[in-house]
Amino acid sequence: MSLKTNPLINKSNLRHGAVPFDNIKLEHFIPALDYAIKEADKTLDMVISNSDSPTFENTALPMENGFELIEIIANTYFNMMGAESDNTFKELAQQISPKISAISNKVLLNSKLFERIKVLHENKEKDSLNNEQKRLVEESYLDFINNGALLNETNKEKIRKIDEELSKLQPKFSQNTLNATNEFIYHTTDKSDLSGLPSMVIEKAVETSLEKGYKTGWCFTLQMPSFRPIMQYADKRELREKMGREFGKISYGGKFDNQEIIKKIVSLRYEKSQILGFKDHAEKVLQKRMALTTDTVMNFLNRLYKVYYPAAKSELEEIQKMAIDDGIEKMEMWDLSYYAEKLKKLKFDFDDEELRLYFKAENVIDGIFKIAKLMYGLDFTEITDLPVYHKEVRVFEVRDEDNSFLALFYVDLHPRETKNGGAWMTCWRTQGLTNEGKVERPLVSIVANLTPSTEDIPSLLTYDEVETIFHEFGHALHGMLSNVTYRSLASPDVYWDFVELPSQIMENWLGEKETLQLFANHYKTGKNIPNTLIKKIKASRSFNAGINGLRQLSFGFLDMAWHTGNPSNVENIDAFENQIMQKTHLLPKVEGTNISCHLGHIFSGGYSAGYYSYKWAEVLEADAFEKFKEDGIFNAETATSFRDNILSQGNFKHPMELYKKFRGREPDVNALLRRDGLT
Ligand SMILES: [Zn+2]
Repeated sequence: MSLKTNPLINKSNLRHGAVPFDNIKLEHFIPALDYAIKEADKTLDMVISNSDSPTFENTALPMENGFELIEIIANTYFNMMGAESDNTFKELAQQISPKISAISNKVLLNSKLFERIKVLHENKEKDSLNNEQKRLVEESYLDFINNGALLNETNKEKIRKIDEELSKLQPKFSQNTLNATNEFIYHTTDKSDLSGLPSMVIEKAVETSLEKGYKTGWCFTLQMPSFRPIMQYADKRELREKMGREFGKISYGGKFDNQEIIKKIVSLRYEKSQILGFKDHAEKVLQKRMALTTDTVMNFLNRLYKVYYPAAKSELEEIQKMAIDDGIEKMEMWDLSYYAEKLKKLKFDFDDEELRLYFKAENVIDGIFKIAKLMYGLDFTEITDLPVYHKEVRVFEVRDEDNSFLALFYVDLHPRETKNGGAWMTCWRTQGLTNEGKVERPLVSIVANLTPSTEDIPSLLTYDEVETIFHEFGHALHGMLSNVTYRSLASPDVYWDFVELPSQIMENWLGEKETLQLFANHYKTGKNIPNTLIKKIKASRSFNAGINGLRQLSFGFLDMAWHTGNPSNVENIDAFENQIMQKTHLLPKVEGTNISCHLGHIFSGGYSAGYYSYKWAEVLEADAFEKFKEDGIFNAETATSFRDNILSQGNFKHPMELYKKFRGREPDVNALLRRDGLT
């Protein structure tokens, strides 16, 4: 196959350089990647064989440009792997990941290149680099150190081996989780299973049943749109128990077991950090975080724990009363969401199903566009003539206030068996300088697994699902509004404990009357959401803040436990997990279930020693949103300041510096507790 016609190598001639999805085939990836790696190798050789003393132009810049193609191919592959791929496609990761980690290690372990970067780093003041160039050199210098540039050859080789192994184990972890999730189907013809379930969930269960080849009955799965409503609404306790147990078992034992993989991953991470001279993996990771140290993280988690644990306890007592009234003497995990939902209904007299009617997916998308218009002056226009990777994907052209092109925005909302679980934002191309010397605008995507439409009913979303869209849209805005020169400093690629500020802050808008009135119209009558419902939404926002907060903290503690100290001698994954999570358990642990085995965030995602970031970022966004509340949530001046000081800045400056520019001071932890009604 000729490289000349490989769509992954040739620059896209579509409008705005859109991804030519219709031409990309599985067999294009390896030849394209091999080519890109060869080209990058040439750049690397050119830089290190240069006998002139190092300058930004002859060292940092070619390194930035020379790897662009690899990045684009890798982005394309992994984005598609997450959003639309079968097992054959996924298996290619076993070839692609090692190639990418090999080339990036070749760079990061190259002593000649490091020498040049070191000289640049030492001379960055007198070489009159601009601030962004200085930041780029500093960040790249740190990357070298963290990857072993100062090590001897033997140790460098060890690091290479570890990275290669990790690059296979991590995708294997998520593939196992996905396969285990898909493997389980509960088919029933017993009508009593349906009691309490929303009609939409039942209809979907009929469709799933037909898809799976059954002539009658209903099928329930462990995918969120099926699993979650069962836990919240199914009156039949045995059904909740069955599904709850199955969910808790995902990749814990069975064909797609992750236990040994976890042991290997944490041991390799630890070993690597030791070779690099760090105490442990957490210390290594936190060096490039807003929080900086393990102590800061643990103090932060413990400080919140002191408030959230007692709050969760008393919330649970109230829920427990509901269960007792219902004849349940001993509450179990699978009763929590169900009775919490009942209590919520009792207290606020609304349920998610009533609210859903106002959240048609298309209206929600229109709604977020209206918000972006009010805050930042952005315009979104749907484009139908650009290729997409699946017919459900919608594409929008985004223009700035002055009508200049800002980004392409891809929206992919509903589950498929070929899609990973969860929701995420990603870039097909980040903003910044390309190797043609032009600063280009980004191609941004949000992907989710939200309630799909059925034959008769459009996609009607729960409040949580709408919140997911707002969240991912916040990430997308970060990416779309990025305005730096160098791609490696572009948003949303900032320090991990800062990256959730732009996303989580958007969730606040959803709770506001002014926002809901923009888009929340009844899907049949078109009537705007009534005031009484809005009031209930507001009142219910801090409902179970303690329980939900505690849950996040429990994952934070678990994550830090896996990544501080030496985990290599952990024999029993479950015993280790229990010991750490005990203090956060409100209800007895369900034997035979395990969280670590499907906690993809920390074992296959980028959140190792970083799960705390969710709560950390909540503090940032609660505190930042108080500023919007003071000035008016659509106040253009405040929005502009948020855009200019945070969203557009990427990793141009340390996050604390950026934050202080917007807020005028450091973040205030109590802002979060105030919002949760816990102070
Ligand atoms: Zn996020």
